[in-house]
Amino acid sequence: MNPPGLTAATACRACGAGGLEPVIDLGRTPLANALRPAGRRPEPPAEYPLTLRRCPACALVQLGEIVAPERLFSDYVYLSSFSDTMLHHAEAMASDLIAGERLGGGSLVVELASNDGYLLQYFKARGVPVLGIEPAQNIAAVAERERGIPTIAHFFDAALAAVLAAQGRRADVVIGNNVLAHVPALSGFVHGVATVLKPSGIAVFEVPYLGEMLDRVEFDTIYHEHQCYFSATALAALFAGQALPIYDLQPVAIHGGSIRVFAAPAGARPPTERLQALLREEQEWGVSTPEPYVEFAGRVGALRRRLVELLARLKGEGRRIAAYGAAAKGVTLLSYCGIGAETLEFVVDRSTVKQGQRYPVGGLPILPPEALLERKPDYALLLTWNFAAEILRQQQAFREAGGRFIVPVPEPRVVA
Ligand code: ZN
Repeated sequence: MNPPGLTAATACRACGAGGLEPVIDLGRTPLANALRPAGRRPEPPAEYPLTLRRCPACALVQLGEIVAPERLFSDYVYLSSFSDTMLHHAEAMASDLIAGERLGGGSLVVELASNDGYLLQYFKARGVPVLGIEPAQNIAAVAERERGIPTIAHFFDAALAAVLAAQGRRADVVIGNNVLAHVPALSGFVHGVATVLKPSGIAVFEVPYLGEMLDRVEFDTIYHEHQCYFSATALAALFAGQALPIYDLQPVAIHGGSIRVFAAPAGARPPTERLQALLREEQEWGVSTPEPYVEFAGRVGALRRRLVELLARLKGEGRRIAAYGAAAKGVTLLSYCGIGAETLEFVVDRSTVKQGQRYPVGGLPILPPEALLERKPDYALLLTWNFAAEILRQQQAFREAGGRFIVPVPEPRVVA
């Protein structure tokens, strides 16, 4: 029986077409942010089916089941600022946009899902007026209080966009990093972006790239909060449908491989050769055909077999294993592979909000990273492999003491 707050997707979230085709079934998983207080042994969290489908009409890859947003976001504890990699990335993005669009004191930059102001702070520091829109009230309050970023605590939609436009608060740049995948009504959302832009303005969205997920077997980026997995083909159709066509696209090395897409009002900016080349490339590898998705599902199954075998062998040799990174993707990886408290002793995370709670998988206690040195497990399974370089550097002391990391994706490997 399914828990409450779950509906099956019957129509494409972007174009409304029916007949969504199956891509992969990842079984049942807890919600990624269902952390529990430590202390008394908690009830195991509810588990929800997790399947991926693709739209035969517009090629958008999306979840087959939708969890009600109030269940997904009620305990939203992810604060972007905790990652050095993300802060460097944000600063570089701000710098590029200030130069490229010649932003100054008379401009306005609006960020959708602006979190704690991790990105807008870099515009503000350069004298560019900013406005954050962040649905999580506690996080919006942090942005206002700690960074002085004006922030509206609300979901962005066409209605809010109309209010802002009527107030004369139109943007030179609208930014949405890792927000499109969370949006339930995509066309209305993009319509709102078009409404809030100046005629000369641009919209910039970063999304994890579907092609990268398929190539690098990044199946653990699939979880209930990520309702869509974008190709350039699907994005081009979505934005063109709202008279806000995409005109450029850049690959971005974050979150295991993302793309940054640029859109502007119809006729304002011609499409770049780089965009057209990627669209052709996607047609060549069959973004709109079943084959690449069948191959992906096969590689995911093979990864599970190898990881389970590796961990079973290490346990058989008497090794002690912990995990690094109490992140959402680890919930998918561990649930799908059937790995829990019988294999892993605890999980460490730098986020002080998460420390002291229990992870949704196996009720594992979440401890500070120092626990690796104090409790001395032989191995740490790296659930946040997208920050592998940064974490391996930070964990030099654990590694010098003989600790090893297991990087699970794209195929399990041990790093001394
Ligand atoms: Zn569609």
